[in-house]
Amino acid sequence: MNTKTEILSIVSLILLTVLLLFPSTRLLAGLGLMIEALILLLMLFSVKKSNPSYFVLQKLHDHVFVFDQNWKLMFTNDGRALKTTLNSTLYPITNEIVHNLKKDKLQPSSYNYYEYQFGSEAYELKSIAIENDNVLVLIKNTTELKRKEQRLSNMNLELEELLYVKKNELNLKKEKFRTIFDKSSDAYFLLDSQFNISIYNQKVFSLFGEVTEISFYNWLNKHSPKEQSKGGKSIDLFKSMQKSCDAQGELRFEWQFFTSDGETFSTEISLTLLPLSQQVVYFMIIRNMMDQKKIESELRKNLEREKELNEMRSKFISMASHEFKTPLATIMTNMDILELALKKKAMNFSDLKIDKYIARMRSESKRLNLLLDEVLQLGKIEAGKTPFSPKNVSISQFVEDYLIEFKSRTSPPQEIILQKEIIADAVWIDGILMGHVLDNLLTNAIKYSDKEVYLRLFASSDALRIEVEDQGIGIPLSDFSNLFESFFRASNTEHVQGTGLGLVIAKEFVEMHGGVIVCESEEGKGSVFRIAIPLN
Ligand code: ADP
Repeated sequence: MNTKTEILSIVSLILLTVLLLFPSTRLLAGLGLMIEALILLLMLFSVKKSNPSYFVLQKLHDHVFVFDQNWKLMFTNDGRALKTTLNSTLYPITNEIVHNLKKDKLQPSSYNYYEYQFGSEAYELKSIAIENDNVLVLIKNTTELKRKEQRLSNMNLELEELLYVKKNELNLKKEKFRTIFDKSSDAYFLLDSQFNISIYNQKVFSLFGEVTEISFYNWLNKHSPKEQSKGGKSIDLFKSMQKSCDAQGELRFEWQFFTSDGETFSTEISLTLLPLSQQVVYFMIIRNMMDQKKIESELRKNLEREKELNEMRSKFISMASHEFKTPLATIMTNMDILELALKKKAMNFSDLKIDKYIARMRSESKRLNLLLDEVLQLGKIEAGKTPFSPKNVSISQFVEDYLIEFKSRTSPPQEIILQKEIIADAVWIDGILMGHVLDNLLTNAIKYSDKEVYLRLFASSDALRIEVEDQGIGIPLSDFSNLFESFFRASNTEHVQGTGLGLVIAKEFVEMHGGVIVCESEEGKGSVFRIAIPLN
């Protein structure tokens, strides 16, 4: 800028101020403004002409200012910069930035950078040292840029949050998958297309031990017998299975392995081909059939037991209806006969055979009584309400007294022979319970045989042993295992009355003494029931 244009500018400014202060001359104000603009244009034109790089600066979108070392404006591309000093002219710029610009000395070819806010707008300012100690100032409105930046950073934050959530979800899924994969009761293998082991679960480890092989076939070779029981070398057989799986996509077959302890066990293998995006992988499930078979046999046993229980229930029902009905019917018929006879007094009493009818009624009533006794006893045992009060007794005295009482009570048709071997006579027993036990064993021996019955007694300081032996119908071998079950009656007792409860009760009473009861028998030859009670 030359001195002439400077003088012109000052003059026009003075003129403009005068025109504005005196309204009458306001018409001339426009003229002053026009002169000012003209001066600026002249200035720009002259600068542009003198320095071709200003032409480039003129074209920039940023606000461009060039100052000399005294901070006088030498060039601008901003039409709004009507004044030529830094403090008051540059728009937009804050006082603080002006202050900094002046203060921060620039080294040759270095620059300063400032960011600031002017009103609601954001700016960045660069001051660059150029030739002749001049300063090039570039101001850029960065409001929109900042807004975009902010939006981008917000979006980034949202994305990061989303990523975090998704990562967590994925980790959770991975963990769940791993848990299911590992906790499975089956062994899993994931094999690549070369049949190399990629992943396996913990069941593989617990069934077969550590996996040290990469090739599945090496692993298979180590854990399978040389030949499979269905025939064929293990490795060849498996390779043919793999081929079939390739063709069908899926295959199930039985396979035998060794456990880590060297035992052979059967498994069912399910091999599936999984076509992934780039390659195929094989998924293998090895199910241990040993467990399966154990469960099956357990189920079968339970089912059989259930069947037995059902049979017993129906046996009880038929037994109860028969055992209750027969004596009741006999009693009723005999009472009818007696009633009829008593009405016809004319008849001779001795002809009526009253004794016979009364004896029948008595015996049937006794049967009913015994049956009810047994059912009640069993109920008490099951409810744990049977009193047990052992006392110190002389065993030989106890058995002798018992036998006298039993014989007078039951009038057995055959002989009961008592044999004793007493070393220590004093024992601790519950006389009532032991009486029930002897009752059952002797009644059975008499009921199921027609020859003499032996009652044997052995007492030492260690144990009390009692045996009841008969030479009767005996017990079929197939019925033996159920002998001490409630309501059980052997298949050869159809024509003999009974409840199937006596032995169960006897066994309970012996066990309450801490003893055991066992039976030895042969069908058609006889039975012996042995009781042993420890005494110390
Ligand atoms: P029951 O009232 O049927 O005799 P128990 O419980 O006393 O009932 O006996 C159960 C079953 O055991 C009998 O039904 C019978 O089949 C068999 N049993 C018991 N004792 C003898 C024996 N001395 N001889 C043959 N079978 C016997």
